[in-house]
Amino acid sequence: MYELLVTNSRAMPAALKSVEAMDSDPPGHVAEVLSGATLATHFRPLGGTQGSNAVLGPSQVGVIWLDVSVPEGSRVPQHLVHRIRFSYPEAPAPGVPADIVEMVANTPVSDRPSAVIAPPLSGQGWVDVNGCCATVTSHRGAVLPLRNALHIPERFAIDFLQIGSGGHFYTDDPQNVNNWRSFGEPVRAVSHGLIVEAVDGLPEQTPLRPPTGITLQSVAGNHVIEKFEQNGHTYYALYAHLKKGSLASAGIRRGKTVQTGQELGKLGNTGNSTAPHLHFHVSDKPDALASDGLPYEFSSYFLRGRALSGRALDYAIDKGTSLKLAPHAPTGKRRNQLPLNLDIIDFSSCPVGISPRLAPFTKKRIC
Ligand SMILES: [Zn+2]
Repeated sequence: MYELLVTNSRAMPAALKSVEAMDSDPPGHVAEVLSGATLATHFRPLGGTQGSNAVLGPSQVGVIWLDVSVPEGSRVPQHLVHRIRFSYPEAPAPGVPADIVEMVANTPVSDRPSAVIAPPLSGQGWVDVNGCCATVTSHRGAVLPLRNALHIPERFAIDFLQIGSGGHFYTDDPQNVNNWRSFGEPVRAVSHGLIVEAVDGLPEQTPLRPPTGITLQSVAGNHVIEKFEQNGHTYYALYAHLKKGSLASAGIRRGKTVQTGQELGKLGNTGNSTAPHLHFHVSDKPDALASDGLPYEFSSYFLRGRALSGRALDYAIDKGTSLKLAPHAPTGKRRNQLPLNLDIIDFSSCPVGISPRLAPFTKKRIC
């Protein structure tokens, strides 16, 4: 999963026809093709919005989002090269054809393994919102010009919102944060690591209302950035929008070492947030925005099902109705996988290293 930046250096529009990602050694094996409507949904002018066609305006830069996969067990290419077909309305210059095919962007494939981590939450009914892949979500589409470079920190980010047993995100008045199922749930360290940034003290936003007081510094709300190492590589986990005062209550501050499963704070609705949720991602630098998103896998979870659609999700959040589920969605235990957009997953009811037991009188499973 990555992005191609394309530049139209001519003073007339270039209509993109297709983009093929192929193994460059040996050349020719095509790993992915985008064309027609699929190309249109995976293309945007830089800073622009999706149109019905993939057209790069005069002197414009655009982004093409790619998801290249190989069959399980087969060789992963070391380099990918891209064949791009596009057309100008007429020959842009003497000797230059209107229809052009170019081989571009011979790119090394990263051999950094995806981080395998413990879940940042416990309990059931967590909905993966704005998650990976296939569609260009608000996370994936956030190409941010910061510190003299373009960054895509939220490439693999997930917004976790929780439903109760009836499928509702909240009861009664949604503008009271306490009525949301997920508000106040413990957020836990996904790995043994070092806290390199900890911000607390920002107020809760009112759910389902536009957030207020947002700056580049407060966009993640109360948050933690944790540095951890795996297989000789360094990763940074971001836990954002945490409840005011919850980091302080958990004793979390910059410079503190934490263990896997240790509480970092509580799920909240601070910063650029319109509903209580945990924004979680892993990236390559200790910065919520000026960094690039890296893939990660949760060591264990149970896939309960999938929301019917993004529209069904929005409806359940806006109206307070039960979330509609997709029929025949896959279910079952998952190990070392990244949940996909709209998946509904159950994490263990206890933090890593603690087994659930039955309470003596209620017979409920407790940690
Ligand atoms: Zn998010």
